[in-house]
Amino acid sequence: MPFKKADFVTSAPSLDVCPDPYFPEICFAGRSNVGKSSLINALVDHKGLARTSNVPGKTQQMNYYQVNDKLFLVDLPGFGYAQVSKEERERWGRDIRDYLLERSTLRLVLHLVDIRHEPSDLDEEFFYWLGTNRLPFAVVLSKADKLSYNKQKQSEMRLKRILDEMNIEVPIVVSSTKDKKGIGEVKQLITE
Ligand code: GDP
Repeated sequence: MPFKKADFVTSAPSLDVCPDPYFPEICFAGRSNVGKSSLINALVDHKGLARTSNVPGKTQQMNYYQVNDKLFLVDLPGFGYAQVSKEERERWGRDIRDYLLERSTLRLVLHLVDIRHEPSDLDEEFFYWLGTNRLPFAVVLSKADKLSYNKQKQSEMRLKRILDEMNIEVPIVVSSTKDKKGIGEVKQLITE
């Protein structure tokens, strides 16, 4: 399915104000600055749709985009941003957990990890939590253009080992929005 028509719908701070669940939805998770907005823009081939920035933590709400009048793509607030208070972080955690567990139309969580970095404790906790709650997810290793092919492979293997240890078997996509790498694979996961 070509992702042709894409529009911003709304920003929602919590589940109770999410749009009515008209369409199946796919959400994008991961720490701030990992490349979530860039990936959404690459998927819909629309540079300015999702806000991208160098300011970590700027996207503090769930941003809803509607594609082809058929699908919602949801950019989740980036986690692990140090410069917000502990209470705020905990509230986000609760809001996101509620959303992930209770959003009936959620079909897939795409969790992004910067390919240059080892998954953080928060990433690993999130994998484990998603696995335990049997939520369908895939991991996208972002910004692949920043590493050589060999190093990309090493990161992929490292991630695979971590997931294997948790008995989690999910797709891993190596992607770069700069080189348009892995975008087709992500689209395929979404359409499947
Ligand atoms: P978000 O906070 O997760 O939504 O991250 P953004 O999409 O705003 O990206 C954060 C920064 O990383 C921006 O400066 C992007 O231009 C940059 N970025 C995102 N994806 C890539 C990529 O595939 N390659 C490179 N080199 N930079 C990227």
